[in-house]
Amino acid sequence: MIIGIDFDNTIASYDEPMHRSAVGRGLIPAGLPKNKKLIRDAIRALGDGEAKWRELQVFSYGPGMPEARPMEGVKEFMAACKERGVDVLIVSHKTEYANFGDPAVNLRAAALGWLEAQGFVDSERFGVGRDRIFFEDTRHGKIGRIRALGITHFVDDLEETFLEASFPAGVAKILFSPQSTPGDKGGWRAFPAWPSIQQYLLGQ
Ligand SMILES: [Mg+2]
Repeated sequence: MIIGIDFDNTIASYDEPMHRSAVGRGLIPAGLPKNKKLIRDAIRALGDGEAKWRELQVFSYGPGMPEARPMEGVKEFMAACKERGVDVLIVSHKTEYANFGDPAVNLRAAALGWLEAQGFVDSERFGVGRDRIFFEDTRHGKIGRIRALGITHFVDDLEETFLEASFPAGVAKILFSPQSTPGDKGGWRAFPAWPSIQQYLLGQ
């Protein structure tokens, strides 16, 4: 078993900082739930909403990255994998620079700095090592990497990853989906939280 994990909104949670930034910019009411998809939909509904949303994303994935939080249970999952000798790789679709907003923001450096600060690189207990973290420019590049690495199980928060025709048929699709009910969907299994993914993949 070789487990691959997506980065944005699968390992790193932006719900809190995005909510704070969006309220601070007057884009959403403070009472809106702290949920990335709800925040996105509310901002997109505004005038010039797509640009406002992209600007908030670039901020959150760049200068605001230190405020992201690890998803609840993801460190414990990676620790359990390490304990059992199960390989874990991080594969992310993330361009080096945003093609929108401040061109000086290096998104990969921000993500890597966050992963290091959180222990995902070096931690004795759950770190995977720098050589097991991959950033790709496109979704196709990400899928090619998943295939090349021989990943057997991939965890992602976006159905779009699994819906790509090039996604390898032999790789188990695991949808990390806090908002959905658990179960089998169109070719993938959806789980609402990391502990249930851990239970499914590793058992007790
Ligand atoms: Mg993601």
